[in-house]
Amino acid sequence: MNPPLTKRERMKLDRTDMPERDADERAASFDEVNLGFTAKMAQLEAMRCLECKQPKCVEGCPVGIEIDLFIRLVAEGSIGAAAEVIQRDNLLPAICGRVCPQENQCEGACVLAKKERPIAIGHLERYVADYVRSEGFEYVTERQISTGKRVAVIGSGPAGLAVAGDLIQSGHDVTVYEALHQPGGVLVYGIPEFRLPKEIVQTEIAGLEQLGVVFEMNAIVGRTHTLDELLEDHDAVFIGVGAGLPRFLDVPGENLIGVYSANEFLTRVNLMKAWLADSETPVLNVQGKTVVVFGGGNTAMDAARTARRMGAADVRVMYRRTETEMPARKEEVRHAREEGIVFDFLVSPTELYGADGLLEGVALQRMELGQPDESGRRRPQALPGEVETVPTDLAVVAIGNRPNPLLLSTCPDLQRTKWGTIAVDEATGRTSMPGVFAGGDIVTGGATVILAMGAGRKAAASIEEWLDNGNWTTA
Ligand code: FAD
Ligand code: SF4
Repeated sequence: MNPPLTKRERMKLDRTDMPERDADERAASFDEVNLGFTAKMAQLEAMRCLECKQPKCVEGCPVGIEIDLFIRLVAEGSIGAAAEVIQRDNLLPAICGRVCPQENQCEGACVLAKKERPIAIGHLERYVADYVRSEGFEYVTERQISTGKRVAVIGSGPAGLAVAGDLIQSGHDVTVYEALHQPGGVLVYGIPEFRLPKEIVQTEIAGLEQLGVVFEMNAIVGRTHTLDELLEDHDAVFIGVGAGLPRFLDVPGENLIGVYSANEFLTRVNLMKAWLADSETPVLNVQGKTVVVFGGGNTAMDAARTARRMGAADVRVMYRRTETEMPARKEEVRHAREEGIVFDFLVSPTELYGADGLLEGVALQRMELGQPDESGRRRPQALPGEVETVPTDLAVVAIGNRPNPLLLSTCPDLQRTKWGTIAVDEATGRTSMPGVFAGGDIVTGGATVILAMGAGRKAAASIEEWLDNGNWTTA
């Protein structure tokens, strides 16, 4: 056996690049772009880790995965043990390894980030998760003897799945009520196949079903069921309904045919096969056409790259700030550029115009950056007189989401914040209604998969406590 590398030797190793599908090939296909590390690549990359005494990467992880430990196990070739370490804190590693904004979390905090070559923690997490999945390793394995307690989970996104996963293993009966016809939340209807293959989400869900979680689809709480009805039939309820109501630009012409919210566009494509000729919910044919996407987050990148894959000849992302302020994952921005998507910064639409009800173009105001706003980012402001028009066949609005009021409007006793999100006790996920917990985007507003999952796990722990002792202190 070779002696372990010295710190100096480790620091000389280059960061291992993720193998990717060729940009031209992938722009015409929904197949996953990143191909995954080989065993050798994973080991080489893991060997770069300095095994810091106070690992900053762990501090940067929203759920505190023991990153230094799992990486050491990968370097030693103990992939099963590495998976167990990750699984203690993260139930969805194959998903998070693919979609977490690592550059702002673990990798951003890694000591090697100072030299712009942090350990590829996300790619290693994905490697471990994919390896054990391909070997048939089960993440959630045992269920304790039934407690007879019943828990309703509303919404099947990462928050709801995390709650269901933890509570079913503790022996409670769990039913997930989901408004759509497929479980998974944004993981299935928002994030496209080329970033997160649906088969991975389905495997996680099938594992929960095997343990006994019941999924009731097409169940819209607030319409087909009320919260009160669920409370009568269950000992606790978790609300994880996300923030699925799209924000609009609020400019003239937004109702023209050819203007979509990113939610509608992506849901129709991801979930309802809008590209098929006989689809009941098609989107306009974009083959050879021009598409503009407004926004700078992951949703904007997903919409633009989806339009490209559906044959659009010219796809432009228009963002009112600069690239520095863009919230999208850096990898998605790079991938989008490689696929031929053009970025137009410091522009804001003032009108969508058209004829006979059909979109024909967009009027744009040029912007500049002023003083930082409450988010800490510099506020865009109009450059007087700098207005132009750009012809386009399709426009997708991806400027953020708000909580959907449907469920909340039927629950007057549920305290809300001024942003329309559910008010909870942060440590426990308890709401103002006894027995009702909440977490994920419905509490934080649009955030990330790992934060939603972490909130779900925290709420699951406090649901256990509530089921055990029935004591309640409200939000
Ligand atoms: P959701 O995932 O939104 O799930 C909520 C579920 O509740 C949905 O299935 C919904 O149908 C259901 N529901 C809603 N109302 C009801 C009701 N009344 N009754 C029953 N069910 C209901 N995050 C990342 O970390 N990385 C990324 O790369 C990333 N990319 C994204 C791309 C897109 C296009 C979008 C939209 C978001 C992205 N996010 C990303 C954000 C991330 O997906 C969300 O933060 C996360 O999914 C929130 O999880 P959740 O469980 O709170 O809600
Ligand atoms: Fe390894 Fe970076 Fe974490 Fe240090 S901070 S233990 S180098 S991943």
